[in-house]
Amino acid sequence: MAACLSPEREDLRLAALRSYDLLDTPQEEAFDRLTRLGQRLFDTPIVLISLIDRDRQWFKSRWGFEARETPRAPAFCDLAIRKADPLVVPDATRDARFAENPFVLGAPHIRFYAGAPLRTAEGFALGALCVIDTKPRAFGARDVGALRDLAGVVMNTFDLRRQVATDALTGVLSRRAFREEARSGLEAAKRLGAPFSLVTFDLDRFKAVNDTHGHMTGDQVLRRAAAACHGELRAGDPLGRLGGEEFAVALPVAAAEALEVAKRLQAVIAAQVFDGAEGPFQVTASFGVASWPDAGASLDDLMAAADVALYAAKGQGRDCCVLAEQECFAPINPTAGLRPEERA
Ligand code: GH3
Ligand code: MG
Ligand code: MG
Repeated sequence: MAACLSPEREDLRLAALRSYDLLDTPQEEAFDRLTRLGQRLFDTPIVLISLIDRDRQWFKSRWGFEARETPRAPAFCDLAIRKADPLVVPDATRDARFAENPFVLGAPHIRFYAGAPLRTAEGFALGALCVIDTKPRAFGARDVGALRDLAGVVMNTFDLRRQVATDALTGVLSRRAFREEARSGLEAAKRLGAPFSLVTFDLDRFKAVNDTHGHMTGDQVLRRAAAACHGELRAGDPLGRLGGEEFAVALPVAAAEALEVAKRLQAVIAAQVFDGAEGPFQVTASFGVASWPDAGASLDDLMAAADVALYAAKGQGRDCCVLAEQECFAPINPTAGLRPEERA
């Protein structure tokens, strides 16, 4: 429909949209409140927060409209995202761009449309906040301004939601967001009878890293360790920072395969070399692995079981992986983190 976005620009726009992790997520009161507010402000029968995906528009919130998504091609909002200013169509039947549109000729019989783009700070329009009526309407400058302001509030809410989901230091999921992702992974596994495992890990002797090399270097270790693990995992596998120097991964695999992933993470962390106060140094981590259903039925049970296994790994000398209620798997760098005098 109308002006095209270049394929490169469109790929970047879609990547920005994905980074917000909004598509196909459950309904949220924070957004329903805003469409309700839109309905009160403009008194239209339909108010939508539409996100423009590659081939569809998907609604994060909808007032007065049943479908959760519709095809992209005829979407009014797909034209709205290509414009700097809100798109206002007072009467679609008198507008050559829309007179033959299936949403005008058929349900929901759009006559009036106004949509303000939901634009990121980088300038990517993820979708639009739109108000729709089945009767023609006038929409003055004040209305356009109010719609633009409300779109700004929607966008701020998107940004906040993303900030809360991300750990500020490492960029991996926050504890809360990780638990949400892991819980939905576990629920999906239960529904499908598919495997599911949790891996938790904690950097070894990290207090000594801070004491020896300073807090800034400690932060750098956390960032690099998280990035190395992220690079080792498949794109969809959630990695979160549970707190301090403790992380977790949720995996759609059974215990044996999860243990292999844990060993790969153990190796990739041990392979990092950092610049320290007294020259280059390395760190290691200890791992606990717990799988559904053997180690527990709920996410909390699995987290607790993985924690016990992780604690056992610490007890067995660190730098190793322990499967819940099972044996220890070999250290990679037994002297990492020790002071020279401790290495004897
Ligand atoms: P263990 O091998 O038993 O895990 O020993 P440890 O020293 O790693 O464990 P401990 O829990 O005693 O120390 C964790 C340290 O992590 C203490 C805390 O100051 C540090 N820490 C927690 N969060 C951060 C952070 O964001 N940045 C930095 N630099 N250090 C942090
Ligand atoms: Mg530690
Ligand atoms: Mg710790």
